[in-house]
Amino acid sequence: MDPPEAAVYAAFIPLVAFLYPLHPVAVVTFMFVQFCCNLAIHAGYEFMPARFSRSRLARFVSSPTSHVQHHETGRGNFGFCFQFWDRLMGTCHPDYDTRLQRTTQAVPAGPNGGLEAPTAAARAKSL
Ligand SMILES: [Zn+2]
Repeated sequence: MDPPEAAVYAAFIPLVAFLYPLHPVAVVTFMFVQFCCNLAIHAGYEFMPARFSRSRLARFVSSPTSHVQHHETGRGNFGFCFQFWDRLMGTCHPDYDTRLQRTTQAVPAGPNGGLEAPTAAARAKSL
C-alpha cells in the first residue's frame, strides 16, 4: 500500500465520523476487518478452494489472485474486498476468471475435496 493510499484510508474514518455518529466498537471492528482483508489479499497465496472459482461467490467477492493481477498491471481489479464492482464498472481484468481457475486448480484436491491447507510451496507456485 502506498502512503497516499494509506492516508486516504486513514482519512475515511474521521470523515465518516464527522458526518455520522460512529460507535467506537464499530470503528474498531471495521479497522480489524480491513486489516484482515489487507493481510489476506496481500499474502501472495490463494486461499480459495478450487470450487470457489466455479461458484457465483467468485463473481461477488475478491480474491488474492485478483489483487495480484491488480499489482501486476495497475489497470484493473480495483475492488479490494468485492469483485462485483470491477465487473460492474468494466475494470475486471479480462484474464481474471481463467487465472483464478488455474490458480485454484494448481493445488491438488485431497481427501477433503481441497479444503485442507496446501503447502506454502504449492501456494506460492500457484500464483
Ligand atoms: Zn495491494
